[in-house]
Amino acid sequence: MSTQTTSTKGAALITGAAQGIGKAIALRLAADGFNVAVNDLSSNSENLEKVAEEIRAVGVKALTVYADVSVEAEVEKMVGAVVEEFGALNVVVANAGIMMWKSIDDLTAEEWDRVMSINLRSVFLAYKYGGRAMIAKGIKGKLIAACSVAGKIGKGMLASYTASKFAIRGLTQSAAQEYGRHGITVNGYAPGVIETPMLTYMDARFGETVPGGKTGDFIKFAEAQSLLGGGNGEVADIAGLVSYLASTEAKFITGQTINVNGGTFFD
Ligand code: NAP
Repeated sequence: MSTQTTSTKGAALITGAAQGIGKAIALRLAADGFNVAVNDLSSNSENLEKVAEEIRAVGVKALTVYADVSVEAEVEKMVGAVVEEFGALNVVVANAGIMMWKSIDDLTAEEWDRVMSINLRSVFLAYKYGGRAMIAKGIKGKLIAACSVAGKIGKGMLASYTASKFAIRGLTQSAAQEYGRHGITVNGYAPGVIETPMLTYMDARFGETVPGGKTGDFIKFAEAQSLLGGGNGEVADIAGLVSYLASTEAKFITGQTINVNGGTFFD
């Protein structure tokens, strides 16, 4: 017997949802009553299909849409597929991103461009095509993007990542100004250190590149920074904020990039 029901909240699209923060957001928005389209690279299809199954088990509809979020034609097609499947698009969460832990001296121009494309161009494309789909149907939707504490304060060894995340804040402010007249809000979430595969990567690179460093050092260092004493953040900490930003309760919030970081950085 099908467990699917008709959603009363509309449809949400979450990019980079095969694991980590994106997966948690997808499951949270499903629990909130959205039909959910989940995106990732086709190389992550095994995990993404499992996420879709978990969403269906909640009792809403799920769709998997494979696309490289840095490629314009793929993003346009992805948004079109979601609108065709669900009839509309109410929430877009541009979550996909990558990290490159390298000194500026070691970083190649190609690596710089890759980080900027996957982290920043992707958000521009998600806002552009997501916003267009909302406006076409007269939907007062929500455009939401992943920023970072590294989008608020510069971080050594993370120059390309930091630059991309700073730019997402500027883009989010500009988009809020353009889309506000359509009733569309545009906001970002700025996680501190959250337990995901990206943290495993960062911890490994920290151990490799810091003299005398080893695996596990960065995780312990970051845990000690939290004012709350309970370790690093969990994906549910971010999903809770995104759930709120995607809700009608957040209708008077736009152009903001909100910290979720255990108090490690204050605006
Ligand atoms: P994650 O575990 O690495 O997951 C990101 C997902 O996005 C992966 O499945 C990844 O695939 C996918 N992806 C990469 N490039 C893509 C592309 N071009 N098109 C579509 N999907 C793509 O990352 P996370 O920790 O959950 O982070 C999610 C977001 O939060 C990112 O934007 C990140 O910068 C931000 N953030 C995370 C933290 C943290 O501490 N975890 C802190 C601040 C901000 P692959 O694994 O194959 O690359």
